[in-house]
Amino acid sequence: MAEAGSFADKVKQQADIVRVVGEYVRLKKTGKDFSGLCPFHQEKTPSFTVSPIKQIFYCFGCGKGGDVYNFVMDMEKCEFPEAVKVVAEKCGIAIPRQKERSPEERKENQQRSVLVEMHREAQTFFVKQLEGTLEGKAARAYLEDRGLDKDAISRFGIGYAPSGGDALLSRLKPKYNDKLLVDSGLVSRDQSAGRLFDRFRRRITFPISNESGKIVAFGARALGDDMPKYLNSPETPIYSKSNVLYHMDRAKDALRRQDFAILVEGYMDAIAVARAGISNVVASCGTSLAEPQIKLLGRFTRRVIVNYDPDTAGQAATERSLSLLLERDFEVRVLALPPVGDKKADPDLFIRERGKDEYLKLLKEAPPYVDYLIARARQMDLTTGEGKQRALNFLLPYIQKIPNGIMRSEWATRIAQQLRIDEPLLRSALSKAAKERRSEITTRPELVGRAAKPVERRLIRMLAEAQGFRQELAKHLQNSRLYHGLETEKIFAALVIASLSGQPVQATEVGAVLEERDRRLLFEILFEEANEPTWEEAMSCIEALQHRQAEQELADVQRSIEANPSAPEMRGLLEKKQELMRRLAAAR
Ligand SMILES: [Zn+2]
Repeated sequence: MAEAGSFADKVKQQADIVRVVGEYVRLKKTGKDFSGLCPFHQEKTPSFTVSPIKQIFYCFGCGKGGDVYNFVMDMEKCEFPEAVKVVAEKCGIAIPRQKERSPEERKENQQRSVLVEMHREAQTFFVKQLEGTLEGKAARAYLEDRGLDKDAISRFGIGYAPSGGDALLSRLKPKYNDKLLVDSGLVSRDQSAGRLFDRFRRRITFPISNESGKIVAFGARALGDDMPKYLNSPETPIYSKSNVLYHMDRAKDALRRQDFAILVEGYMDAIAVARAGISNVVASCGTSLAEPQIKLLGRFTRRVIVNYDPDTAGQAATERSLSLLLERDFEVRVLALPPVGDKKADPDLFIRERGKDEYLKLLKEAPPYVDYLIARARQMDLTTGEGKQRALNFLLPYIQKIPNGIMRSEWATRIAQQLRIDEPLLRSALSKAAKERRSEITTRPELVGRAAKPVERRLIRMLAEAQGFRQELAKHLQNSRLYHGLETEKIFAALVIASLSGQPVQATEVGAVLEERDRRLLFEILFEEANEPTWEEAMSCIEALQHRQAEQELADVQRSIEANPSAPEMRGLLEKKQELMRRLAAAR
């Protein structure tokens, strides 16, 4: 991937994988290598290994492995160019300015940065309106009433869009043409008269930032009874609702540190939770999570506590989000807040009324999603057979998403007990559902273990590392076709091709062309304790392989003889047998 002489290659030469990985994983020196707890799978004893000499990493537990870029790509869930940037930044290497590929692209980039600049200006404007105008004063009173003091207002950049209808417009108009103004989503166009006016009027504004902290949209709440109560920016070239999670830019560190996220519905909820000192909160800013949002979240944690509003829409949104999260293999818990007085409580109201300690306590006790779903199912009428069937139909799609069979079975028992459903009936429904789904499941690759014989492992290691005679050895192996038919054939083939090129072998690049099982085996071999290889050792490995090959052939010939073939064929087989036996005897 990192072509020789490219910027990526230069960065890789200078970067130290131990230092880069060390920013994410606590590493301990063990012999020549470093080891730690794998960041890609749950484990208690370290099987994650980093080699400073080879500049690669490998996890003996889950099989992830590669170079510094593979690590960053997996860790940050980003593409190669982004990983190069990340590593360069970590190592203090200046990144050359990227050349834009086409005039259109340049134009789009320009437009995007103008739109971001407009949002910055709008933000300054809204904040000033809240601070220094009469109308703003009323808005401040409302915010105060909601428990948002000066600190919170400035921390979350809360502002105010005045009622006039062209206050922001007149600010922006001298600098930007009409098309840009409309494209920004900050300004709307009257359909009939074609007149421009402010999109947000008489509303409290909440800046919505993208992942890197740039304001790309606004959410706005009506101050009076104007409808809709909440109005957001439309989709624009810099903002897509399904790509952004509110508060993500500030939650990143906490998400990584705490390794779980609290998912709430709106920005008021996220602000309330964050103000309670719980920074790992994000809001979907819509009724349900979208696929790209889940992907974004998954880059930081795979554990989520869903805390949506307890109303019907919130419940439906919870259940939709659950489905999506479970499909993506997230560990999900659900926090359904109890009512405050006679009011159904969203996180904002709950924390205001009952305090953050109470919220934290409930957060800690939030049940796994299955418990939540059982509780929901129990609200259905379970006195009739039909009702039970409905409850079962409600639960099954979720239960069948549990990847672990034992867990699934435990839950089946629990559901049967709690809903008083005949257990065999439930199990048969479950296994029917499981069969339908089996085709989609990719099984986890099993540990490779000692699949290859020591001789093969040794030769593979030499092909990868013996700078002195690698090419020579590759030629030898290719001519004799010695590795054909071996379990490790594909690894040999890939290494032989790489070695014949005369370039240094990059284990990660060889690994990239291999199937998962072979790739893992290659990495395991590379991390084995081994002595400096010598040409003599290589030759004796080759002899061993030749010997093994002859033995195999002999066994084949013997089988053919026992099948009692025609006389001429038998003659040929016997001759072949003699020759093989001579060869084997000579080798002893
Ligand atoms: Zn692992």
